[in-house]
Amino acid sequence: MSLMPCTAKKFEAERPEMASSGYQDVDVVLTSRELGRMIREAGIDFGNLPDEEHDAPMGISTGAAAIFGATGGVMEAALRTVYEVATGLDLPSIDFHEVRGLEGIKEAEVVLGDMKVRVGIAHGLANAKRILEMVRDKEREYHFIEIMACPGGCVGGGGQPIPTNMEIREIRGNALYVADRQLPLRKSHDNPAVKQLYEEFLMEPLGEVSHRLLHTHYTERSKYPISQNVCD
Ligand code: SF4
Repeated sequence: MSLMPCTAKKFEAERPEMASSGYQDVDVVLTSRELGRMIREAGIDFGNLPDEEHDAPMGISTGAAAIFGATGGVMEAALRTVYEVATGLDLPSIDFHEVRGLEGIKEAEVVLGDMKVRVGIAHGLANAKRILEMVRDKEREYHFIEIMACPGGCVGGGGQPIPTNMEIREIRGNALYVADRQLPLRKSHDNPAVKQLYEEFLMEPLGEVSHRLLHTHYTERSKYPISQNVCD
């Protein structure tokens, strides 16, 4: 079962591509709003429940995971890992402030050894369209683009508590960066559960097993023709 900020995940769980083991990876998707309603209807005083350990391997979480919910967060989490894996050096500063915030399109340049990595970030579909047009028209070149469909990222997802507006999305996003700062581990590749998963099962990033199980592909569903109908 998957608990998500996102109504679109209900559709995603049923995609035929999400069953590489032969069985659907996810049986049921609940949104955070639905879970909140169920907790209220069951009369559970959630705020006063005692804390418990999570089941392994999902129990250990990093700051990088927390910020996935905000626009720019996936990019920042990836940069923290890419920098250290690619250069073999510790990050001089773990916070990539230039990829944070609610500006519609953000850009940054990150120096990785002797290479400058140019990144672009968009949130909301109007900004997604703009950034793709900029790339198509050769106004911009990026090595890495992050697009989140919802304004503000998943903090503004369709399954999140309502009402939602930009002010609320900003408060939620800021709370994720506070959670990030407070966690003892802030980089995905430092997570012992992730390391163990790779050592014992997935073997290596971008290896055959991890590629087969963690990557997906998309098939054209639009009624409008697009030039390439299958992409990774
Ligand atoms: S940005 Fe929106 S559509 Fe994308 S995963 Fe998050 S909640 Fe879902």
